[in-house]
Amino acid sequence: MKIVSSIMMFVFALGIFFTSCGDKNVLNQNRDSAVTTPHEDRVLTEAERDALSPEDIVQDFKEGNQRFLNNDVTVRNHQYRVRQTAVAQFPKAVVLSCVDSRVPVEDIFDQGLGDLFVGRIAGNFADEEMLGSLEFATKVSGSKLVVVLGHQNCGAIKSAIDNVELGNITAMLQYIEPAIEMTTNFPESQRTVKNNDYVQEVVINNVHHTVEDIRRNSPIMAEMEKNGEIGIVGAYYNLEEGDVKFLEQ
Ligand SMILES: [Zn+2]
Repeated sequence: MKIVSSIMMFVFALGIFFTSCGDKNVLNQNRDSAVTTPHEDRVLTEAERDALSPEDIVQDFKEGNQRFLNNDVTVRNHQYRVRQTAVAQFPKAVVLSCVDSRVPVEDIFDQGLGDLFVGRIAGNFADEEMLGSLEFATKVSGSKLVVVLGHQNCGAIKSAIDNVELGNITAMLQYIEPAIEMTTNFPESQRTVKNNDYVQEVVINNVHHTVEDIRRNSPIMAEMEKNGEIGIVGAYYNLEEGDVKFLEQ
């Protein structure tokens, strides 16, 4: 009797083993085909990316941010994308963002692996190394849009307003000084980190200043923009709502 029940257990276990192998095969098949979702999830080819205008990509980002706000982001097959992008990448845009953990760049625009270059530095300014990275993304790799993305309640901006002096942070904050000097429409007494309107104004001016810095200090990107090959735009991310506003030039 014991032998019979042992054999039955063995057959049962064998059944489970083969069933799970079958599931794995189905999973692998799914990974190799693009997932069909209401929002198409696929990696752009070079020709498809090159056919986009900078305005098309701004529109794409606005629609992606709306899906993020609606909690309706695209379901992505990451392993499929890993394999599709391993040999070559054709990102349509480069986003210069702050390092802030509350600004997950791909997520807020509903973009996936291989869609974007992201340059991150506290205070989203463009020093020489960042300009080199942006030129790599645009001139060398063919991205069609540069987005400078500032955000609400930015710690780097607040530190610059407070004249924080600490280690390497001191030198870094000098890049944000011009934005503070630009923000003159508040009485002296209201130019503090406690004044949210003031902080927001400095953040936005820092974005404008960075956009101008890119044009001023990168003849390569200025020329590309003049020729309509790329767009250079500023945007502001609202931490409380999750929405991105593209700024008027
Ligand atoms: Zn920040």
